[in-house]
Amino acid sequence: MTAPACIRLPGKPWELNGDANAHSDITPPATAVALPDSLDKFTYASQDQAPLQLITSQKKLDRASKRLPMPDAVDIDGLSWPSIGTKQRLDESPEEKEARVAKITGAVKTILECIGEDPARDGLLKTPNRYAQALMFFSKGYEVNLKEVVNDAVFDENHEEMVIVRDIDVYSLCEHHLVPFTGKISIGYIPNRRVVGLSKLARIAEMFSRRLQVQERLTKQIAVALEEILKPQGVAVVMEASHMCMVMRGVQKPGSSTITSYMLGTFREDPKTREEFLSLVRR
Ligand SMILES: [Zn+2]
Repeated sequence: MTAPACIRLPGKPWELNGDANAHSDITPPATAVALPDSLDKFTYASQDQAPLQLITSQKKLDRASKRLPMPDAVDIDGLSWPSIGTKQRLDESPEEKEARVAKITGAVKTILECIGEDPARDGLLKTPNRYAQALMFFSKGYEVNLKEVVNDAVFDENHEEMVIVRDIDVYSLCEHHLVPFTGKISIGYIPNRRVVGLSKLARIAEMFSRRLQVQERLTKQIAVALEEILKPQGVAVVMEASHMCMVMRGVQKPGSSTITSYMLGTFREDPKTREEFLSLVRR
């Protein structure tokens, strides 16, 4: 049996506002969040990322080129669509962090009781705390500042050919069921004298995936963030993912995958550019 796939045609991106399944727009809140100067403590553990495949229609980009300052938009909204408790989480003391984890631990213990389990038995004794720690990790993308991620990695470069990083592994949590969805993201853009370090594309994908998400919004956020950072001629993001909430429950269709895309600029306007991108990521 062929796996069903939910495909939104390129050039016709998901409409988040009008979609009954969409839960929120990604418009930043009117009140800008004050950004701490240093987020050094929030470093990425990106070792688990699979090696990236790079396709570029020209030779390697010259790294000696001049670095560019960050655009104001990223400075003002470095947290990129924070949620209601993001700022508090970001600013809390070690004691407050401990209290937060303890609160989640208590909640997970309640869940275990509610499903008829015995939270006091050996195997489950430390599970609530383990889960609390894991959940903080799964959602650490809320604490990441886009400005910090791309810091010092935007370059002035006379390169106007398509750049694609393909098959970035992402692990996210579906906000409707709090279970994982995992898959691969491919990101392409056509520079307009600004290029970003290639590894940063994966970091941006990870930043937005380590939050509670819907796949459509995740795809769009990555594209819009890159649009803001690079002001490119165009940007395209395609994601294919498998949702555990689909695979493990309800419709139970193992092997099914969901494909979303979001395109801006030339990728949206020019069918030939879009086709080139899609043929390169399709392999
Ligand atoms: Zn779900």
